[in-house]
Amino acid sequence: MNPNLKLKGQSALVTGANSGIGLAVAKALANDGANVVVNYVTRPEDADEVVNQIKNDGGNAVAIRADVSNEQQVQSMFQQMYDTYGTIDILVNNAGIQKDSPLESMSLADWQLVLNVNLTGQFLCAREAVKEFLKRGIIKERSCAAGKIICMSSVHEVIPWAGHVNYATSKGGIHMMMQSMSQELAPKKIRVNSIGPGAIQTPINKPAWETPEALNKLLTLIPYGRIGQPEDIGKAAVWLASDESDYVNGTTLFVDGGMLLYPGFSTNG
Ligand code: NAP
Repeated sequence: MNPNLKLKGQSALVTGANSGIGLAVAKALANDGANVVVNYVTRPEDADEVVNQIKNDGGNAVAIRADVSNEQQVQSMFQQMYDTYGTIDILVNNAGIQKDSPLESMSLADWQLVLNVNLTGQFLCAREAVKEFLKRGIIKERSCAAGKIICMSSVHEVIPWAGHVNYATSKGGIHMMMQSMSQELAPKKIRVNSIGPGAIQTPINKPAWETPEALNKLLTLIPYGRIGQPEDIGKAAVWLASDESDYVNGTTLFVDGGMLLYPGFSTNG
C-alpha cells in the first residue's frame, strides 16, 4: 500500500468494479487508503476476486450486488455500504454498457437499456450519495470537501460515434448532468467531475484490440501511440477523489492519449 495515503479513512463506492476500468479504480482507491465497495451486477466471483486482491494488498473492500438502473437496488446498496463503513465520501459512477447497432435496426429495448444503465444509473447513485454528503457535511480530518463524485464518461461525450447512437447519447448526457450537478452542489462543498477515457483495453471494446490488425487501426486514432490501460484511469480517479484536486469542479478530465486532438488533421486534413 502507498505510504502517503491520500484517501485515508474515506469510503468509496465504485460501480461496475468487477471488471476493466472499475476494477482498476477500486484497487487504486484502496491502495491510497479508501475503504471500497466493489459493486457488480452479474459476476459475483469476479467481484470476490477483486475484494480478495485488495485485502491481500492490505486494503479494505466489500462486494455489493446492485443493478445501478434499479432504484430500489441502488438504495439498498447504499444502506449496505452505511452498515459496513458508516458513510460515503467518494462515489465513482463507472458502470456502463454498449449495445451497438446501426440506427435503423436499433431496438427500443437496446436504446433504453443503455440509457438506463449509463445515464439513469449515474443519476440514481449520485442522488443517494448527495443525500448522505448533505446530511453529514465536511469532516476536516478526512477531506476539505463534503463529498466527491466522479462520473465515468468518455471521449464520446464530445466525439460523435456512428453505430453507437445510444452509447454516445448517454455520454453526452453525462456531460450535462455532471456540470449541472456541479453547479448546484459546489456551494455545498460537493465536487462533481468526470473522467473521459479514450480507448482503454478492457472487455467492453475487445474487438478493437484483440487482433494486431484491429489494434493497428485503433492506434491511428491515438497520437500517443498506445492503447490505454485501466490503471491510467485508476491514477486519474485517485487524484480527482483527493484534496489535491480540491479546486477542480465540473470538469471532464480526458485520459485518452490525445484521441481528442483530431489526429486525422495531423497531415493537413
Ligand atoms: P467492462 O469491463 O465491460 O465493465 C463494465 C462494468 O459495468 C462491469 O463491471 C459490469 O458488471 C458493470 N455493469 C454493467 N451493467 C451494470 C448494471 N446494470 N449495474 C451495475 N453494474 C453494471 O467495461 P469498461 O471498459 O471497464 O467500462 C467501464 C466504464 O468506462 C463504462 O462506463 C464505459 O462506458 C467507460 N469507458 C470505457 C472505455 C474503454 O475504452 N474501455 C472508454 C470510455 C469510457 P458485470 O460484469 O457484473 O455485468
